[in-house]
Amino acid sequence: KKELLKVENLQQYFPIKGGILGRTVNHVKAVDDISFEVFEGETVSIVGESGCGKSTTGRAILRLNEPTAGKVTYDGVDLASLSTKEMRKYRKDLQIIFQDPYASINPRQTVSEILIEAMEIQNVVPKKDRRARAIELMKTVGLNEHQADRYPHEFSGGQRQRVGIARALSVNPKLIIADEAVSALDVSIQAQVLNLLKKLQKDFKLTYLFISHDLGVVRHISDRVIVMYLGKIVEIGDRVSIFDNPKHPYTKALLSAIPVPDPTAEKHHVPLQGDVPSPINPPTGCRFHTRCPFAQERCRQEEPVLTQHDGMTEGHTAACHFVNDLQPKSI
Ligand code: SF4
Ligand code: MG
Repeated sequence: KKELLKVENLQQYFPIKGGILGRTVNHVKAVDDISFEVFEGETVSIVGESGCGKSTTGRAILRLNEPTAGKVTYDGVDLASLSTKEMRKYRKDLQIIFQDPYASINPRQTVSEILIEAMEIQNVVPKKDRRARAIELMKTVGLNEHQADRYPHEFSGGQRQRVGIARALSVNPKLIIADEAVSALDVSIQAQVLNLLKKLQKDFKLTYLFISHDLGVVRHISDRVIVMYLGKIVEIGDRVSIFDNPKHPYTKALLSAIPVPDPTAEKHHVPLQGDVPSPINPPTGCRFHTRCPFAQERCRQEEPVLTQHDGMTEGHTAACHFVNDLQPKSI
């Protein structure tokens, strides 16, 4: 399989200004040294609670924020090395779909105008063919050509998300970052949009980076799953490993919170207490130690690294000192 995207030691700190001089007094450590790759044609999900750095990672890949450190390689090219002009081509390849497409579309434009504008910005499709292409795209995402001259407010949430998807598709992207793309939708509509995304992936050979706080959604769409906590990756594995053989206590806790499709299946009961600590001064050692029901003294002092422990398959790693020996909390 071809490596389409490679993220190496990505770090994104946001400065906090303070004092009368407005100097940088601290940093929000939103993403702190994460590495992963995405292969062509696969769906990799990033999951975690809000504030764990998922969206920031997506934005840094697209260079919507300039990363503090680290490297993002797309199709063999270091994106940071590109001039603004060269970056244009890649802007087309890499598209993003947001939770609320309404927030990123102009409410005064009709759907066809929105799609035509996207094609115009990236200079794809000859001008005279753009309207026909817009209508074709609408059909591709399950909308009706008679809706071409309607305004976004005339659509339901699910239909608006289809418009967002059509807009992303209009420039023939290779990689789509979907940031909480179905999170605002009703469960039945979520399923429809997920099925659409799967179909489009097959038809257009798309690769997805799917960002979601909802493991229930991630289960339906992922080939591989990255679990993030407070700016760090705590576990990576293929879908089966993450859902059937989770190793990190945080992954187990997230799984405990979702309904089990098979009630006879063993459930991993790990309660998740309290809120995510501040990413300004994250806990020492294992960042999860303040909430982990298995934390030991070592966890407070030593940062665990992603490791393939006994009983884990190839490509499945977790960052926990006690993966195969979880004992009740002692600190
Ligand atoms: Fe819990 Fe310690 Fe493992 Fe961190 S390293 S997840 S605190 S047991
Ligand atoms: Mg987010």
